Amino acid sequence: AKPIIAIVGRPNVGKSTIFNRIIGDRLAIVEDKPGVTRDRLYGKGVWLEQEFNIIDTGGIEIDGEDEILRSVRVQAELAIEEADVIIFMVDAKAGVTATDEEISEILYKSGKPVVLAVNKVDNIQRQDDIYEFYTLGFGDPVGISGAHGLGIGDLLDEASKHF
Ligand code: GDP
Ligand code: MG
Repeated sequence: AKPIIAIVGRPNVGKSTIFNRIIGDRLAIVEDKPGVTRDRLYGKGVWLEQEFNIIDTGGIEIDGEDEILRSVRVQAELAIEEADVIIFMVDAKAGVTATDEEISEILYKSGKPVVLAVNKVDNIQRQDDIYEFYTLGFGDPVGISGAHGLGIGDLLDEASKHF
């Protein structure tokens, strides 16, 4: 079976933007269950001739901190079950948030390999913004920009080490 990458993170960090850049037009399945926070998109990717499947978690965006927390928790747990490697995405502009720390706890306990992706590093000046994310405890963060398509090769290099 092809390896599976899941992208996990709180709403608005840029998961769908990166997912779309990685899959191009290779969207496979849209799992849509109205009323639950399980909406997930499945796509196909290829990196250095290795094919993989990738999951964009969190199709539903909900208002309110409690709802967001609950939904990211559910998504993280589903992703952990399915994935061989998890891309944990955070937002350089926002910095480390309480929700990021909550997700970190879930990911720690999973024991699955995690690659920490700091999105919205839109230019070289912002590269310094990634260092505060070391505190999350997943080692070297990979700075990326979905908006500008930067760092995505480096991210897939790191993720594919765990295939
Ligand atoms: P998701 O909720 O995690 O799936 O995030 P989205 O992919 O929907 O992106 C949330 C918002 O962040 C959108 O307005 C995107 O245009 C914006 N965004 C995504 N990637 C970047 C980036 O690299 N830089 C900047 N500045 N904005 C981005
Ligand atoms: Mg999204």
